[in-house]
Amino acid sequence: MLIDGKTTTCGLFGYPVVHSFSPPMHNAAFQKLNLNWVYVPFAVEPQHLPQAVLAVRALKLAGVNLTVPHKETVLPLLDELSPAAKAIGAVNVIINEAGKLTGHNTDGAGFTRAIKTETSFTAQGKRIIILGAGGAARAVAVQLSLEGAIEIVLVNRTVNRAEKLAQTLRGLGVMVRVLTWEQPEVLAETMLKADLIVQATSTGMHPNIDACLPLPLGCFQAGQIVCDLVYNPVQTKFLRTAQTAGATTVSGLGMLLYQGVQAFEMWTKKTAPVDVMKQVLYKQKLIDDD
Ligand code: NAP
Repeated sequence: MLIDGKTTTCGLFGYPVVHSFSPPMHNAAFQKLNLNWVYVPFAVEPQHLPQAVLAVRALKLAGVNLTVPHKETVLPLLDELSPAAKAIGAVNVIINEAGKLTGHNTDGAGFTRAIKTETSFTAQGKRIIILGAGGAARAVAVQLSLEGAIEIVLVNRTVNRAEKLAQTLRGLGVMVRVLTWEQPEVLAETMLKADLIVQATSTGMHPNIDACLPLPLGCFQAGQIVCDLVYNPVQTKFLRTAQTAGATTVSGLGMLLYQGVQAFEMWTKKTAPVDVMKQVLYKQKLIDDD
């Protein structure tokens, strides 16, 4: 990669950033399309975020990704928010257009693009159950609502958190119910009726790969689409259980890939070389797993 006076720069603000998959994934994509662009990771400490956002304008960066701990604290520092970013209350992509900074959230859109690509599933008119109500669940639930889901059922350990998300979703016009893990019969019935089941808690994530949610017996069936947002490991215990029952399963790696694909396309206004980005992501993941 040759950096010269015409190179366009974008990057990642996070703290820490050392484990991010984004720099190799985006730089490989720029190279594939012969774009004179570069993606740089910036370790921005929380107290320096306001100066870092000013630097996006001052240094004329095309845009940046945001990761932990900046996704929410960045909101008041931006000029405009996309409808999804506003409803989610978190930003993972900034676009700089002549000094005007717009915040977007491609986590949810990355998720819906991944399931559409892998299974042809679209949210319009569908019944969906989401296990969890944290940041990832919020992004996915908002996007599914914006894309026309008819009903979303939220199941979370902390009921208040689910109720708060339910309020946001009702504001977007979707029917919402909140269930708890202590209602196994209603839960089993609701899961069986769902077109899509999304596991959005951190349960089963490395190193606790044998941990599992208190799922009722017989809650999966053939014809359903079941996703786990956890991508470490790729094949979770949750997905294996759903697969055994005949459901079509989708791992969390797709969401990770397509949130990046969406960001790439927003910055460059070109179709992303998805295969190249996927290859780098999978390779990087294998290195990390060693
Ligand atoms: P978060 O905001 O911290 O939320 C964690 C969620 O997991 C909450 O709903 C929490 O319930 C629930 N939870 C945690 N431990 C639990 C347990 N023992 N039993 C039942 N519920 C439990 O985290 P997040 O950002 O939403 O991330 C959630 C998962 O999604 C993580 O594994 C993360 O790696 C993954 N993720 C994947 C992608 C992707 O691109 N594939 C993107 C973002 C996140 P309470 O509210 O009751 O605490």
